[in-house]
Amino acid sequence: MTAAGPVILLVEDEPQMRRFLRASLGSHGFRLVEAGTVREGEQLAASHNPEVILLDLGLPDGDGIDLTRRLREWSRAPIVVISARGREEDKVGALDAGADDYLTKPFGVNELLARIRVALRHGAGATPGAEPVLEVGPLRIDQPRREVTVTGRAIRLTPIEYRLLVLLARNAGRVLTHRQILREVWGPGAAEQTHYVRVQMAELRKKIEADPTRPALLVTEQGVGYRLRDGGGPP
Ligand code: CA
Repeated sequence: MTAAGPVILLVEDEPQMRRFLRASLGSHGFRLVEAGTVREGEQLAASHNPEVILLDLGLPDGDGIDLTRRLREWSRAPIVVISARGREEDKVGALDAGADDYLTKPFGVNELLARIRVALRHGAGATPGAEPVLEVGPLRIDQPRREVTVTGRAIRLTPIEYRLLVLLARNAGRVLTHRQILREVWGPGAAEQTHYVRVQMAELRKKIEADPTRPALLVTEQGVGYRLRDGGGPP
């Protein structure tokens, strides 16, 4: 363990889960700060300025979704929710409250490490999408020229498809909810029009996927939203 590794704040009340994460994250060079309640979590987030926050939802003195909302008022640290609640509405609720990602327990260490890497890339200091050329797996998006290629082959996108793809590429590896996608691409008035997203994603897949019926790049998070796989990330 190196003393200079990224600081991760873990907000979790189960002793077993804490032991598991302490051992696995510690051995990968992360410095872990631990809280067992919403109250402690909020205090430690302020005092330790963590690079990533891992957050359980069911906490003894409150709900992690409320804590997410409160943290978002002043903190930009990426929040990865780790919860046994696997229902779609829980995931959407956490992501819409400002969480960056969601892992359903039980999960493997490699999956968690991959999500933490993505979160760190999108964390403080980095401005996602600021680079003129975005490269995600076989995709290359030249923003100044508005040119998109897939494994070197140029593809033509409509303005909406282009905005959608840039949004996904800027957030490569992260799940985006239907609501987030609608707000960013269509504007705040379209938040309920989830069919817009479905239709445009299907069109986009025809252009970027080798087999649009079995998407390998642009994957559906059932009932939650979409994730553009970042190549190094989990399936
Ligand atoms: Ca719990």
